[in-house]
This record gives sequence, structure tokens and C-alpha cells, in this order.
Amino acid sequence: MGAPKRRIFKIRETLMSQNCLVCDRIQSIKDDNNPYFVAELETGYVVLGDYQFFEGYTLFLSKIHAKELHELDSEFRKQFVWEMSITAEAVFKAFHPKKLNYELLGNTDEHIHWHIFPRHENDPLPNRTVWNIDKEIRNAESAKPSREKLQKLKEKLKNIFNNNKI
Ligand SMILES: [Zn+2]
Repeated sequence: MGAPKRRIFKIRETLMSQNCLVCDRIQSIKDDNNPYFVAELETGYVVLGDYQFFEGYTLFLSKIHAKELHELDSEFRKQFVWEMSITAEAVFKAFHPKKLNYELLGNTDEHIHWHIFPRHENDPLPNRTVWNIDKEIRNAESAKPSREKLQKLKEKLKNIFNNNKI
């Protein structure tokens, strides 16, 4: 099965919301002030996670502020889910994990965003979800990438998107 036809979605500012962490992050991308930003796709933005305990941890943020997938218009929804899988494929090709985990939660930040976690060979709990690993470990200061490390990770992922490796 081939990729769905590419469409241009005109995203209006009114589709964003105030007091939303994800909308704020998207605004910082638009302001060219988000060091984690990797790529803009038609329906969302690809960013690296703030903490890189799982090296290559990436998020795909919906351009539309919505709480559930079914709230999205069907064409946007199809393209959004497709582009999430494209993002995951890029993460896989850039970071070579043993397995990928895909999660769409939004219990605290009610703006659709996918978490894509590469699970590597050295994973401390390979048979459990990432959330079973203590937050103090996942979000330890040592898991926060330095500027240089962040740059390297972004280049690896950008390389996949920019060179049509997916
Ligand atoms: Zn939002």
C-alpha cells in the first residue's frame, strides 16, 4: 500500500489553545526558539524529548489542539496517524533500537502528541512500559542532553527526513 496523497492542511491560529504546554511548544517552534525541534510535517511537528534516557526519544505534536483522535477531521486524522508512523520509522532508522514503543496519552496535557520511545539493548525493564521506570531515573539531570549531544541527535534524525530515507 502506497502513502496517502500529500495534502496541504491550512492550520488556523484559532485551532490552538491558550494555557496548553503543547501549544506553547509549537509557538516556540514558530518563533524559531525551540532547541528540540527536528522537522515540520503536514499535520504536526517532530521534536526530541527533553530527556534522552531512551536515546532518540521523540514526540510528534499535532498542529491542531484536540484531545482525542476522533475529534480530528477524517482527512487530517488519516494523514496525522500516517505521519506518526513515518516519524517512528525515521526514529528507528536513526537510532536502531531493538523495539519502538508508541504512546498517545494526554492525560495531563490534553493536546494530541505521540511519544515514540526507542527501547535499546541496555533497557533496564525491556518487558515493561517506560513509565515503570522511575521518573527520577528517566528524567535525571544526566539524561538531559548537552547542547552538543542534542545537536548530534537532531542531525541523525534530520538526516533521515532530509535524505528521503523513509
Ligand atoms: Zn494545545
